[in-house]
Amino acid sequence: TSFGYKHVPEEEKSKLVGNVFSSVASSYDVMNDLMSVGLHRLWKDRLASNDPHPQYHFITLGLPYCFLPLLRLISKLNPFPGMKHLDVAGGTGDVAFRVLDRINSVSHRAMQGTLTDIEEDTQIYVCDINSNMLNVGKKRASERGYKEGHRLSWIQGDAEALSFEDGSMDGYTIAFGIRNVTHIEKALSEAYRVLKRGGRFLCLELSHVDVPLFKEIYDVYSFSVIPAMGELVAGDRQSYQYLVESIRRFPNQEKFSQMIKDAGFEGIEYENLVGGVVAIHSGVKL
Ligand code: SAM
Repeated sequence: TSFGYKHVPEEEKSKLVGNVFSSVASSYDVMNDLMSVGLHRLWKDRLASNDPHPQYHFITLGLPYCFLPLLRLISKLNPFPGMKHLDVAGGTGDVAFRVLDRINSVSHRAMQGTLTDIEEDTQIYVCDINSNMLNVGKKRASERGYKEGHRLSWIQGDAEALSFEDGSMDGYTIAFGIRNVTHIEKALSEAYRVLKRGGRFLCLELSHVDVPLFKEIYDVYSFSVIPAMGELVAGDRQSYQYLVESIRRFPNQEKFSQMIKDAGFEGIEYENLVGGVVAIHSGVKL
């Protein structure tokens, strides 16, 4: 491309991605905060939230209860007690903790005693290809007081060949992960396979900005500032160069929606955040 990206053969991509994340694992959080000026926290909150898509607010306004089933269908993830949830490429636990916190807040709001049995069934599985990233997540889980195995399971595995049974999950999330898998279609069809009927797929990913002027500013930021920041903070310019190039190669919002549809999902929507710097795509398995 005009940005000097050299094509990486498919067979080398997994290895390259593995190396990138091994080398960035320790500085991962700092770099995320710096590059996104802290916004990645809000984007992940949004991913795990049960707020509906902004354009649906008017539908439910004033009619909260009778429209609750509709609200559920079109809401983002709607975590609930007893949920079986899989967060893929979730090494650091950022999304899993949010889903769990959201479930716990639902439980605490409910009448005491009635939910305990259901709550016990809650299980969040964090799957990541890279053990260094999983170790960061496990460490953070214990710092947060989560006991290992209790509601949180950490599994090393590939998004393209999940070790979970067909129709076993209520929810599937992947945040800033699908861009790195070698065959996106395989990851999507695996997501579809492991979800139950009615299960929701949500993907948070760096996407394409299509807002004049902002697009130009964003290009300068990503191609000049981010690699320089990577060199300065993480001592690794190449990994961050790769990051920026992989964002540009990733299909745009519409193309990615079509890929999700091709995997079998229905009701596909996407929400652009910060003008498309990131997008949350969602779909349901019917
Ligand atoms: N979801 C976390 C977050 O939002 O902070 C981590 C995102 S990090 C940018 C990307 C993660 O994807 C890394 O932990 C990496 O190890 C993982 N990854 C890359 N390829 C993968 C694959 N094929 N299957 C599972 N995880 C993968």
